[in-house]
Amino acid sequence: MHLELLELQRRVHARVPLPSLDLGAEAFARHEAHGAPLLQFEHIPLELSDLRLMVRQTVDILRRHGAIEQADAERLQSAGRDLTLLALAGGWFRSAADRTATGRPTPPGGNEAAGDDVLDQVFTLAMRPFLGRCAELVQQREGLGLWTHPYCPACGGDPDFAVVTPAAERHLLCGRCSLQWKFEALTCPFCRNADRSRMTTFATQDGLYRVYACNACHRYLKAYDSRYAARPVLHDVDTLATLPLDAAAIQRGYA
Ligand SMILES: [Zn+2]
Ligand SMILES: [Zn+2]
Repeated sequence: MHLELLELQRRVHARVPLPSLDLGAEAFARHEAHGAPLLQFEHIPLELSDLRLMVRQTVDILRRHGAIEQADAERLQSAGRDLTLLALAGGWFRSAADRTATGRPTPPGGNEAAGDDVLDQVFTLAMRPFLGRCAELVQQREGLGLWTHPYCPACGGDPDFAVVTPAAERHLLCGRCSLQWKFEALTCPFCRNADRSRMTTFATQDGLYRVYACNACHRYLKAYDSRYAARPVLHDVDTLATLPLDAAAIQRGYA
């Protein structure tokens, strides 16, 4: 299932153009001060026919492998056929991107994406080729190092993976767009607990992968330790390679 999803994402990603964005160090500094992510929905190079294809095929793959229920698949397929698709994508995007350092405001008129786990899962996968392109652009810009918040400076997504750099810094990887940004090595990005006695870390035997688990909020984050590796982190490959670590973390009571 994961390989089918990757293949689909790569195929569409190849034809998504780069967006145009104002991304000087000054723009980063301004956004950093408010904790507001840089990207707005209107910036995403989104082609309706490609989005429709991504949603339809993602739902097909998830359903074929039993990852979602038939009723949910039908509900999302019918949304994928009509014009509400862009509105749904916008609502999903803004559920993470409309935030500041002090929290997430409730958007006026409500938000269909909030609390709908299946919709969130499908759009996280279906929007990856488009958001990934935006992240490629942001990643190259100077000023990214100014960002100190625990969510993505580009799209506001939460991290779902990390990498320890050769200089022993920890960089977080966005679960929506794969952007990497530096964050304190021993602070929990989910609840900002920085008390080392309330953090547990454990590694695989070869030292290549590590889990940071927080005993305050009981969430965990996996990391690739590139100090022991011959290649850079590969978000999708390393996420798959560490599925046994998820099992180990869950067994120890983390989520
Ligand atoms: Zn992101
Ligand atoms: Zn925590």
